[in-house]
Amino acid sequence: CGIVGVVGSNQATPVILDALRRLEYRGYDSAGIATLEEGHVERRRAAGKLDHLATLLARMPLPGVTGIGHTRWATHGAPTENNAHPHGTERVSVVHNGIIENFEELRHELEAAGQVFSTDTDSETIAQLVDYHLQRGLSPREAAHECLKRLEGAYALAMIFAGHDGMVIGARHGAPLVVGFGDNEMFLGSDSLALAPLTRRIAYLDDGDWTVITPAGAAFFDMAGNPVERPVRLTALIA
Ligand code: GLU
Repeated sequence: CGIVGVVGSNQATPVILDALRRLEYRGYDSAGIATLEEGHVERRRAAGKLDHLATLLARMPLPGVTGIGHTRWATHGAPTENNAHPHGTERVSVVHNGIIENFEELRHELEAAGQVFSTDTDSETIAQLVDYHLQRGLSPREAAHECLKRLEGAYALAMIFAGHDGMVIGARHGAPLVVGFGDNEMFLGSDSLALAPLTRRIAYLDDGDWTVITPAGAAFFDMAGNPVERPVRLTALIA
């Protein structure tokens, strides 16, 4: 039930793990992190508490300065390691909070088009839809936008793309997501509390907005794909 994204120059995994701990109060049944390392997507996932994920990461570290993390509260598919987020392929990795109402229709379409699913979640549909468009030759930004046009239901999501170190794409519709501004480092989080020790400079996405963050800053877009401005605000020191 929490999302974190990081791009910058510091190792992403410890920052993400810390931020996920600050989202624990929302409740969750499993957790996972994916990073980009020399252009490749790698992930670690674990059922149960964040300590399980932390133990796994200690044994099998996940290097990289670009990453996404998730705590899951299962709605579709049992709370197993295999259904834990991030979901995706070798091209894209996605974390999602919420419910994709039309996931069955999308899954049938994508399976007919040759996409191979490996989980029972509604969320994997997002990753497979983006992957489908990437394989058609669309850029990550174009593929994300094409995907968002088809999603019905509630979502906050974050995604990273193989070969695109230093970029995370986020989106929200009916579930919260904020953008945090650091020094040569940018963040996504379910709320400003998750990012509290990292930055007080926060931009709130409007419902239907999506954003592309890089270490240099954030670009914001509306549902139609038009660039929009979202003001940076200073959060209170004590949330
Ligand atoms: N519906 C998704 C799932 O069951 C996301 C749940 C959540 O919000 O954590 O995997």
